[in-house]
Amino acid sequence: MTDAINIAELKELSVSLLKGVGAKRSSALAGFEVESLFDLLTYYPRRYIDRTKEAKISEMIPGSEASLLVTVEKTDVRRIRGGKSLVTSTVTDGTALLKLTFFNQNWRQKQLVEGRQAMIYGKVDLYRGQRQMTNPVVDLVGNRTGRVIPVYPQSEKSGLHTWDITEWVAEALRRTLPPKGRGFVDPLSDQILSEHDLVSRDFAFRAIHQPENMFEVTQARKRLIFDELFRMQLALVLRKRAIERTEVGAAHQISGPLIKQFKANLPFELTGAQVKVIGEIEYDLARSVPMHRLLQGDVGAGKTLVAVAAMLTAVDSGHQAALMAPTEVLAEQHLVGIRKLLDGMTVTDDSSLFKDRPIKVELLSNRVSTVDKKRILSQLLLGEIDIAIGTHALIQESVSFDSLGVVVIDEQHRFGVEQRSILREKSRSGLSPDMLVMTATPIPRTAAMTVYGDLDVSILDELPPGRTPIDTKWVRSSANFTEPEATAAPEELDEMWDQVRAQVSAGRQVYIVCPLIDESEKLSVASAEETYEYLQHTELSELQVGLLHGRISPADKDLTMDSFRAGKLDVLVATTVIEVGVDVPNATIMVILDADRFGIAQLHQLRGRVGRGSHRSQCWLVSDPTTPEGEARMAALVASTDGFELAEVDLDLRGEGTILGERQKGRNDLKLASLRRDRNTVVEARNCAIKVVDSDPGLESNEHLASELESFLEEGDAEFLLKN
Ligand code: ADP
Ligand code: MG
Repeated sequence: MTDAINIAELKELSVSLLKGVGAKRSSALAGFEVESLFDLLTYYPRRYIDRTKEAKISEMIPGSEASLLVTVEKTDVRRIRGGKSLVTSTVTDGTALLKLTFFNQNWRQKQLVEGRQAMIYGKVDLYRGQRQMTNPVVDLVGNRTGRVIPVYPQSEKSGLHTWDITEWVAEALRRTLPPKGRGFVDPLSDQILSEHDLVSRDFAFRAIHQPENMFEVTQARKRLIFDELFRMQLALVLRKRAIERTEVGAAHQISGPLIKQFKANLPFELTGAQVKVIGEIEYDLARSVPMHRLLQGDVGAGKTLVAVAAMLTAVDSGHQAALMAPTEVLAEQHLVGIRKLLDGMTVTDDSSLFKDRPIKVELLSNRVSTVDKKRILSQLLLGEIDIAIGTHALIQESVSFDSLGVVVIDEQHRFGVEQRSILREKSRSGLSPDMLVMTATPIPRTAAMTVYGDLDVSILDELPPGRTPIDTKWVRSSANFTEPEATAAPEELDEMWDQVRAQVSAGRQVYIVCPLIDESEKLSVASAEETYEYLQHTELSELQVGLLHGRISPADKDLTMDSFRAGKLDVLVATTVIEVGVDVPNATIMVILDADRFGIAQLHQLRGRVGRGSHRSQCWLVSDPTTPEGEARMAALVASTDGFELAEVDLDLRGEGTILGERQKGRNDLKLASLRRDRNTVVEARNCAIKVVDSDPGLESNEHLASELESFLEEGDAEFLLKN
């Protein structure tokens, strides 16, 4: 079978080789990103019409819905009242006649030409004794025989019909599959095929387009989905292993004096999850292979402690550590928190009189003065600073470390892969630092395997004890308070303000989050400034209210944040600048206005700003969603406070495109596979990829696999993954 066709070759063959595909059709196909025969064969049917399951017009009960395969008898269009038009089409399946009606869809006349076959879906009604369907879904299927008819996506508007595609696919299959063609290379070994119960590639390509029955479709899909996920995992596992092979890091000393002291000084017990995760990290740190680990943990799970433990391990071993946060506010907060945690600790220093000195933690951000910055930069280079905390400023060119041992990146979603690799090269020692990436926006495990497939994953799935669950309520109302006539304020809104005042008089504090700063166009969006003005004069007139948004000067922002932390402000009206990390345990109410404008992850983050102390906390979602997804998001937040559970819902609502998009640009080869539906296959594919790569790291004895993978990778990638 050495002369069988591989995918690289298939990608080189243009669709214009097919009969009937000239310049015009080629360019129409290109509009669907179908240019090569590979594109065409992986242009999969959107669905199938199973003629064995078809209903008959004569048997339809009025009021019921059905799919029917019909032939058009005639179609007319006429004008009706109000300048509208009505297309009526009479169709039959041989058992009876059926009338289809469409309003204002003149183009249907060209679609439903006499003699054409169409699959229609809709509800049958009786109108003046005649069976009728109004605005049914129509798929033209051409005069196809066969029991299962594929329907291809979006084929009509461009002038490409589903039967054209059917025909070209048929020709492509005829010329590639035996007996006429050479057949496809199957890069999977017989052992893998049987282990995972997969059909051959020849079978899969034929059956996905020309199935004899729906079971064949199932088998074909299973194989093709596995192929997609396996290629993806193979690339990720190869990358992970290649990095492990080529990078040398420090083998840190674990359980050194600092870390021992740190653990002993903690005012509380570590949670079981923290112990487990710190263990996983220490295992990585002790090896000279640099760590690449993702720490997923819900808001408030105690990631900071884990990060500090990792950084102290580096310092214990005579190296430095860095923590990179996404915003200035967060970086500053980390500085304060971490200095407090490390208060009184000392590190050995032979140059000092007492052979030790206090551990040194410094902030490097754009707000640090030029003089301080200069000093900090030189101390970093000399190794006199043990832990650097900062924003993007940490990865600027001027920054170098003496020996950077551990890097922690907080809230990964704001950082790109490139920035991660820049940090890696900042150290004079030439060692690759161990890297811990923390995210409070959990994504489902199988999605993590794909999105962060080149990282190991640790999960902090336990909240510290003593937290009281947050009570979430949804007030169905627009948050446009400033135009009272626009919203009839429901009673719950009054109850909400009552709660706000009651909590404040009990000594607690409140956040009110608004989506946008300025009054935006005509959208009924709560504006922070207006809301602030309004509330100060109405609901919250007795309270100390502060305002925080992105256009306030850094100095004023600091002032406001400090007053809020110190309890001098009762209420903070803010934009999403408080989304991540801000930690004021005394705050017990989070009000989110026009909440349906936020995504699930963001809402969960915002909500996580309360419930951090021992007091019972509430989250009020004020929103009158305009979409079903908006409704679903509100309902999800009310139903669950578990970030991982919410992540699953989010993935279901948004699809994986958004998650993959961020990190897999250009590498997204998922046409059939879904990270949600095919969770189990993701795991199977990953395990299979690990097995293959670990027994054959350069894929030398899997040449078909290697060449197939190469055709999916960008040039530099292939080089890196396959040639070392
Ligand atoms: P995250 O970054 O995961 O959202 P933090 O690290 O900010 O969470 O921790 C949230 C709060 O919980 C902090 O005030 C921290 O001091 C506290 N905390 C962390 N671990 C524990 C623990 N094991 N027991 C009690 N409180 C803890
Ligand atoms: Mg945090």
